[in-house]
Amino acid sequence: MDVKQIYIDADALLEGHFKLSSGNHSQFYLQSAKVLENPKTAKILAQALASEIKASGLEIDTVCAPALGGLIAGFALASALDVRSIFAERVNGEMSIRRGFEVTKGERVLICEDIITTGGSAMEAARVIESLGGKIVGIAALANRGFCKRENSNIETKPNCKLPQDIPFFALEDFTFDIYTPDSCPLCKDGSQAIKPGSRGN
Ligand code: ZN
Repeated sequence: MDVKQIYIDADALLEGHFKLSSGNHSQFYLQSAKVLENPKTAKILAQALASEIKASGLEIDTVCAPALGGLIAGFALASALDVRSIFAERVNGEMSIRRGFEVTKGERVLICEDIITTGGSAMEAARVIESLGGKIVGIAALANRGFCKRENSNIETKPNCKLPQDIPFFALEDFTFDIYTPDSCPLCKDGSQAIKPGSRGN
């Protein structure tokens, strides 16, 4: 399965000159929600991710997704794994479990995101699950930005990766691309203007 091509076909991998939320610039941008716009595509990607997780022998009771980004991927993955699906959400900036969701002691939870960059939100959700007695057995995402090493990939973990090294991280594809500070950006040097992805109404 050519995951990169699926992202390109869905207009989820954008090429241009982008200003990222960090303030840095990039030639590429992943608009992860776009790849899940078609439920059939979402199902295909989730099934591929579920197969990889099942093949590893990992046993999971529940998938927990950090809202908002992880919601659709988390639900699709839980459906493919045939396990419970819950989500964590921010309340006044703090990740929490609400909506009547319960976590039992020792419950084996996989955290699922649409994309893992450094893994910050995933780990915030993981800490909430652990505080309720759950056990984090793995992390999953459709796309990996390339800062964390995933299963079945040769990419090395970078210092800014927040995922723990002792639990497996599953993703379908590495999307590594260069980011530049505004003063060192070759696209700026060529005279073009960086745009904020999503600034045109999407
Ligand atoms: Zn630039």
